[in-house]
Amino acid sequence: MMNLKTLAVCIAAAGLAACGSEFGKNGSTGNQGVDGRAGINSLVLQHTLAVGHEQCRNGGVQIDSGLDLNENSALDTIEVSDSQFICKEALTRISDSSMLNNVNNRWYIDSAKSVNTAALNAQAINNLRGSAKNIILFVGDGMGASTVTAARIRDGQLKGMLGEENNLSFDKFPFVGLAKTYNVDAQTPDSAGTMTAMISGVKTDKGVIGLNEDANYSDCASANGNELTTALEMAEIAGLATGIISTARITHATPAAAYAKSANRNWEDNSDMTGVTGGCIDIASQLVNFESNLEARHPGINVNGIDVVLGGGRRHFLPNDANFNVEKDAANGAEGDRTDGVNLLTQWSAQYPQGNLVHDQAGFDAIDVNTNQPVFGLFNESHMQYESDRANDILGEPSLTQMTTKAIDILDNNEKGFFLTVESGRIDHAHHAGNAHNALADTIELSKAVQAAMDATNPEDTLIIVTADHSHVFTIAGYPKRGNDILGKVISVGESTPKLALDNQPFTTLGYTNGRGFKDFGETTNSDDAYDAAIISARVDLTDIDTTQAGFHQESHVPTSSETHAGEDVAIYATGPGSHLVTGTNEQNIIFHIMDYAADLTQKADTVISAQP
Ligand SMILES: [Zn+2]
Repeated sequence: MMNLKTLAVCIAAAGLAACGSEFGKNGSTGNQGVDGRAGINSLVLQHTLAVGHEQCRNGGVQIDSGLDLNENSALDTIEVSDSQFICKEALTRISDSSMLNNVNNRWYIDSAKSVNTAALNAQAINNLRGSAKNIILFVGDGMGASTVTAARIRDGQLKGMLGEENNLSFDKFPFVGLAKTYNVDAQTPDSAGTMTAMISGVKTDKGVIGLNEDANYSDCASANGNELTTALEMAEIAGLATGIISTARITHATPAAAYAKSANRNWEDNSDMTGVTGGCIDIASQLVNFESNLEARHPGINVNGIDVVLGGGRRHFLPNDANFNVEKDAANGAEGDRTDGVNLLTQWSAQYPQGNLVHDQAGFDAIDVNTNQPVFGLFNESHMQYESDRANDILGEPSLTQMTTKAIDILDNNEKGFFLTVESGRIDHAHHAGNAHNALADTIELSKAVQAAMDATNPEDTLIIVTADHSHVFTIAGYPKRGNDILGKVISVGESTPKLALDNQPFTTLGYTNGRGFKDFGETTNSDDAYDAAIISARVDLTDIDTTQAGFHQESHVPTSSETHAGEDVAIYATGPGSHLVTGTNEQNIIFHIMDYAADLTQKADTVISAQP
């Protein structure tokens, strides 16, 4: 288009040049030439598109271009030879000013942007089967929706925000769905049945680990023939690196469901199995003998055992003899519970002579992450400390974040990828003790561990799922004003002093439907002290009590020996390949199937097993 105009100018110029370039004597000056005609103009026309335009659903700009062939200095429709569209982002635009209060509002703009991001996430996800190299399953034990909300506010307030607007690391995951947590035989579930569902793809009974519903609770003989294969075992068979982390005892229900088969979750060592007949093996023994047990169940395969095991629960691995104590003063009794005289830690070291067996922060810190040798860390006689109480541990314990980071650094040495399950086990325990402070502190620590896992992996090859096994009877109540201390007493909107209930006493925002009730332990950071104090189910005058201290336990009005689980759905948060499958309301065992889709674990394991002679 521009070429035509340039050409016309050149012709006129060439005519002038020709007059002055003849050889011979000078003639008389000729007549001045006629100016050349202006070339045909190329015109561009821009117009705004309203919301709803078929090319730009959110509005935008249309740029038409073409030659002004009829030279009327306007680009007529018939002259348009090209149209380009510059569409606006998916932020709502309006043509009428009557809704400006909406569209100029920061809440409106922020969430409109989130819709945009969500649309991009949906397009960017790798949704092909088997596209995940690594899988990390985080389980916040007992982390129901109210726990996530309260922890998010608490985390925000600790950062100096009002709190409600804050996000935990996994709050920003692109995909979220719901899980129905009931066990096959229970409306409100326990961790054994729920983790079995998540990690083996099969819902089962309450209290049962790694067995289907045809096994009967606490009936050893009924276990035989009803064993399930877990995602961790499939990964192990397929040659991936494997790891288990828990802040609870590593033999406790949630971590145990990854590797053990037990008709009773409480069979953590042989002393828990008095009177049990039928040849069942305790959970601690099953962990130490995992490699040979798995090879025996699938004849011909050769696996190398779980690469990283980090948690608490030394007592189930040691003889009931104070001579074997690692941390506890011998005068206070033996750490070990085992009455069969077996030292499973010695057994583990004999199996893995180059392995790293550690029991404190210093030993943990000294582990070289470039190792290809297994790591076994048991940092407490029983459960590891609550995060708020961790500094009080005698020999020192790593945090959940430190354990997660180190485990990933070791597991990612395997080029085939890894399967890692991480449990924040003590959210549940703090709730059972009626202590919201520590439940929230451990949830915040889980959020940090998830962030560390995101930082240490690539979202294009690693599926990360964060979920809970079940909820708790934990509520966020009253009508506290925005930014009110989440651990505080309810102060109404516009007020500065606590609201009084009809009994003329203040009340806290957080509370429990049942449990051991009110305790005021001041700065005490061990929630479990509640079990040494009387159960209080009556109202208490909180006027002079600082309910924000670590040692405050919320009131409850139904006295139970410990606060209970709740039966409502829990959230499943996901990011990475296959995370787009986390949507809607699901049976909890779908979590296994999403992981299986993402990493093709069943096929990979079956290929190895079926290749055996
Ligand atoms: Zn529990």
